[in-house]
Amino acid sequence: MIRIKTAKQIAGIRKSCHLLAEVLELLETTVQPGITTGDLDEIAKREIASRGGRPAFLGYQGFPGALCTSVNEAVIHGIPGNRRLNEGDVVSIDCGIEYDGYYSDSAITVPVGTTSPDVTRLLEVTRSSLEDGIDAAQVGKRVNDVSRAIYKTISGEGYGIVRPYCGHGVGLSLHEDPQIPNYVGRGPNPRLKHGMVVAIEPMVNLGGDDVDVLEDDWTVVTGDRTVSAHFEHTVAIFREHTEVLTRRSSERVHSSVEAPAV
Ligand code: MG
Ligand code: MG
Repeated sequence: MIRIKTAKQIAGIRKSCHLLAEVLELLETTVQPGITTGDLDEIAKREIASRGGRPAFLGYQGFPGALCTSVNEAVIHGIPGNRRLNEGDVVSIDCGIEYDGYYSDSAITVPVGTTSPDVTRLLEVTRSSLEDGIDAAQVGKRVNDVSRAIYKTISGEGYGIVRPYCGHGVGLSLHEDPQIPNYVGRGPNPRLKHGMVVAIEPMVNLGGDDVDVLEDDWTVVTGDRTVSAHFEHTVAIFREHTEVLTRRSSERVHSSVEAPAV
């Protein structure tokens, strides 16, 4: 069941999202060679608490962190810990906040120092595919229009697209209907309506589509262990426009990536 949000509810979700954008922006500037993923998690817990929020991932189905920190071949759901980040790594930082009963969800993939041109390009294209998905998220369109926009950008580059995990409704809880795949599948394809709030989150691999789950039962990695990237925004869909609720003030919206040849 898709929960259409009232204006009051969206105001609460927006507040939660703005706090999350601040925390992610801070974490982005904190990433540097030598820091551990556990350090990032500690900073996130402190910053979320100081803003009156609660880390929504912590304890969710038993997850032990405030952040999912997924390094290099890790796609999503990496557990923060002793892993030290090295020059040339990339780390996906995924975070959710519950504030006053309202939920936000957003992720960025951050280069540690300088990354190889291949990896830099992967990050740019993944971020660009998220923007294309957001552009397609308009009243009257359908979930498949969002999925198709993301898929088109990614597949044009020959990258792998993660299929078992996808975007979702969010706001009154962390994961709600509808599911928003990053490819056009045969699942439900509801029309997008005024008052829907969704998290859109392409996960893109430098190599093939396949993924595995590690023995910690959380960390999702690429099957061929190539690098993966993940970007996510929570967006609210209104009659006249779509608002990116988790937009960071420093974020460059228009990508320099040219549209891939179709
Ligand atoms: Mg997330
Ligand atoms: Mg999500």
